[in-house]
Amino acid sequence: MSATAHEVLRRVFGYAGFRGQQEAIIAHAIAGGDSLVLMPTGAGKSLCYQVPALVRPGTALVVSPLIALMRDQVATLRQAGVRAACLNSTLAYGEVRDIEGQLRAGELDLLYVAPERLLGDRTLALLDDVDLALVAVDEAHCVSQWGHDFRPEYLQLSVLGERFPEVPRMALTATADEPTRREILDRLRLGSARVFVSGFDRPNIRYRVVPKQNPREQLARLLATEHAGDAGIVYCLSRRRVEETAAWLGERGIDARPYHAGLDARAREASQDAFIRGEGVVVVATIAFGMGIDKPDVRFVAHLDLPGSLEAYYQETGRAGRDGLPATAWMAYGLQDVVTRRQMVDGSEAGDARKRIERRKLDAMLGYSELATCRRRSLLAYFGESPPERCGNCDNCLDPPETWDATEEAQKALSCVYRTGQRFGVAYVVDVLRGKGGDRVQRFGHDRLPTFGVGAGRDAAEWRSILRQLVARGLLQVDVDGYGALRLTGDARPALRGEVAITLRRDAPAPRARRPRDESGAATERRRFVADAAHQALFDALRALRRELATSQGVPPYVIFHDASLVAMAERRPRSLEQFAAMPGVGAAKLDRYGETFLEVIRAHGDRVEAAASERPNAGSV
Ligand code: ADP
Ligand code: ZN
Repeated sequence: MSATAHEVLRRVFGYAGFRGQQEAIIAHAIAGGDSLVLMPTGAGKSLCYQVPALVRPGTALVVSPLIALMRDQVATLRQAGVRAACLNSTLAYGEVRDIEGQLRAGELDLLYVAPERLLGDRTLALLDDVDLALVAVDEAHCVSQWGHDFRPEYLQLSVLGERFPEVPRMALTATADEPTRREILDRLRLGSARVFVSGFDRPNIRYRVVPKQNPREQLARLLATEHAGDAGIVYCLSRRRVEETAAWLGERGIDARPYHAGLDARAREASQDAFIRGEGVVVVATIAFGMGIDKPDVRFVAHLDLPGSLEAYYQETGRAGRDGLPATAWMAYGLQDVVTRRQMVDGSEAGDARKRIERRKLDAMLGYSELATCRRRSLLAYFGESPPERCGNCDNCLDPPETWDATEEAQKALSCVYRTGQRFGVAYVVDVLRGKGGDRVQRFGHDRLPTFGVGAGRDAAEWRSILRQLVARGLLQVDVDGYGALRLTGDARPALRGEVAITLRRDAPAPRARRPRDESGAATERRRFVADAAHQALFDALRALRRELATSQGVPPYVIFHDASLVAMAERRPRSLEQFAAMPGVGAAKLDRYGETFLEVIRAHGDRVEAAASERPNAGSV
């Protein structure tokens, strides 16, 4: 690799070395090759084109579908002293003229442009006269008609190769399944591109699934005990649920904002802006929210409803912890989710082939939700990797669930469904199992069945858990048109006859309602980034300074420095500009602009700490 790429990495971005495949990707682009880059969210795709943009002569063109993201990237690059701009539909005519002038004069290192803007005759003609360093197509999976982010304009991006045959092109995405990959190569005419596939693991994200009991209360407890004051995203399935949840959290003192497609554009933008610019804002959203937001300090992603596929789940949870610091992916999941999702698939307008695919995807999602073994392993295996047996950073690795031989209980449950005529929902079946002979049960004569009361030894929650797991495994199905009646599937027969052993996981018991001062238990440790209280105090002071600087410049705080940079400053306490330059994320421009200001806070803090220490008797011996 040329020394210049390393130099740019250090001088401009303030990083000591490349990560993973960045170095190879960058070398390939600098040498003029085309590439397809598949990398998980947060792994560092942007540098893959930003570094070549600065090493190769000319302006790099970056096609990006989302305006908020462009704006952010440009702000970040400018902070690092890079000449970057963006062209999109929100600009006034005068601004467009200015940017075009800079472009023509060769005064831009990077130009971000929305696809519809790029494809206009005016822009294409302008680019004919410009020396292009590279064309990068970000979020390249938007060409895929099967994907949920399909953008028709992306299909026309194939003209770029014809129009600028000499310019290396790079397509980037975090969606890596094989069909999407082929579609990108095909539709963008990247036939001779080299494909760089990175591992999809996100080791700093802790995956957790809890049985749904009272989801809002469960969420509130998670926020109170582990994520107080943190930024996060809460996904719900319906707009109504988004509104209600946001309001409910708001009443509990959490700065929660709703986001869904039914809100007008202004309200949506207000929520998004608050989220990006704030430090502790929670957005409650439908899946409409998230793509194109590269806020690095999202500390948790919570699902109150089951996503339809592992692809969607992984993409959504991947929005947590881009900065590499600890983050949580949490989901509450229950039987009703299974019913709702099955209803959505069966009731959709899609053709049979499509429905089959969607059913399979939902089954994979259910399998994941019910796992008793490592969640990360299952996710990565689904995406074609061969991860180790245990990750050590998911709920099942950290606190292995009990499993039990449920062969007999499964038999009882299946038999009860069968004998009551496969016409009743979960609540009724549970009543019969437990021998609760209400009016209806008596009217149907089900109190005289041999299965009546065979499950009296277990409470209703246990039976619901058993039934849910049998549904998730495809032994029972839920009648999705009617009243959610349970029916046996063809696969249920051997289990009904007790011919196969059934092992189920034992759900953790429902947590009791939260008492006011119940937040210091061992299970509720708040994961902090910095090692001890003294570091924490300095970290907080640095954050306050960053907030002030961000507000005065009208940019999000993370554009100035990431939390990871502040953590390093708090722990290593640089005392000189030279030492400050060695902090991650401190390049030449930021050193110049912010070095002294941050050093002042660090020095003042150090003096205070030392003064306090010298006042204590026996200072130093503790
Ligand atoms: P992606 O686009 O793949 O989601 P980004 O390009 O936003 O990821 O990068 C994620 C984070 O990792 C950013 O904050 C970026 O500054 C940081 N990063 C990327 N590459 C490096 C590197 N080589 N060293 C240190 N930090 C890096
Ligand atoms: Zn694990």
